[in-house]
Amino acid sequence: MKPDTRIIHAGRPDTGPVNTPIYRASTILFRDLAEFDEGKDHARHALTYGRYGTPTTFHLENAVAELEGAHAATLAPSGLAAITTALQAFLRPGDHLLMPASVYGPARRFAQQFLAARGVASDFYAATNAAGLEPLLRANTRVVYLESPGSLTFEMQDIPAIASLCRARGIITIADNTWATPLVFRPLDHGVDVSVQAATKYLVGHSDAMMGTIACTATAWPALAEAATDLGLCVSPDDAFLASRGLRTLGVRLQRHAQSALTVAQWLEGRPDVARVAYPPLPSDPGHALWRRDYHGASGLMGVWLRPGVEREAIRRMVDNMTCFRLGGSWGGFESLVFPVAPSSARGLAVADEPAYLRLHVGLEDVDDLLEDLAAGLRRLRA
Ligand SMILES: *Cc1c(COP(=O)(O)O)cnc(C)c1O
Repeated sequence: MKPDTRIIHAGRPDTGPVNTPIYRASTILFRDLAEFDEGKDHARHALTYGRYGTPTTFHLENAVAELEGAHAATLAPSGLAAITTALQAFLRPGDHLLMPASVYGPARRFAQQFLAARGVASDFYAATNAAGLEPLLRANTRVVYLESPGSLTFEMQDIPAIASLCRARGIITIADNTWATPLVFRPLDHGVDVSVQAATKYLVGHSDAMMGTIACTATAWPALAEAATDLGLCVSPDDAFLASRGLRTLGVRLQRHAQSALTVAQWLEGRPDVARVAYPPLPSDPGHALWRRDYHGASGLMGVWLRPGVEREAIRRMVDNMTCFRLGGSWGGFESLVFPVAPSSARGLAVADEPAYLRLHVGLEDVDDLLEDLAAGLRRLRA
């Protein structure tokens, strides 16, 4: 089956209602002692207690596992919870973790605060230098984390090269695949052990629920399942329903996000107030060759650096009056968003005169209206 077909069928029951209903449950009643005793070992997808899931979550987990080409998948209450669970599943005191410098900020913080306080040391490597990774590996390096393209700055990583280097040495790789989703890139097909997604973004797709997914190989699964169980992860059945519903349209939504985003990125590249656009599908992007080689499409998130000298006040004039690109965090929903942050400062790096930066999420509006909104915004910026 092709991915766009798989996404329609994955994890769905084949009789009864088209969509798995919302099961609300903590207590599950057993018929008799024999059934009770059978349920005690919490076999995967056995209906025994609400925290271990219901058909609403089981079917979504099956869908995610199938889309990721994974042995199994589990759900987390947020994308960050998916990341922190995956890390805790494999890291012990005395271990060493490598993360790309462009890693999602809260994941960096988790390594530097929570893991550091529990005896796990972390280093941050240049995301685009796969060859430079090997000298950074230590005897106690247990996990190499990947995120491609990177948060805010959108560096593409050579995931197959890094994954094969790590697998040969028994080092676990965990990839944050939120930007691509498994429709565009399947980390496990390229040798990665664990793929995490902030389902909050494109899977849910409508900006109305928080969720994370963790999908992995059969080898990685026991440690992951144990961590997810021991940490008490579970998600609301309503949110699982929203994610299952969002999933079915992911294919068509991503096509539209990607098509409009490329139009917007190319248009922005020609504006005098724009210094650089970071969006791997752009031929001028330094990650373009890797993107072409490994990815089957794109999504709608990009980074835009404005020309040097643009002040916060000019940014305020631009973003305060936008009609389509509204000011807000997160992304992956149907709507366009603008998020003015300073990538280096956000990473705790002191950079003198850091140029003004906007992260744009290109939504499903008509692209002509998006270009008009940006053109008017840039006129206000210059005024
Ligand atoms: C948003 C995001 C997360 C975290 O997801 P939440 O659901 O907000 O916790 C993780 N990774 C990336 C790349 C993200 O953009």
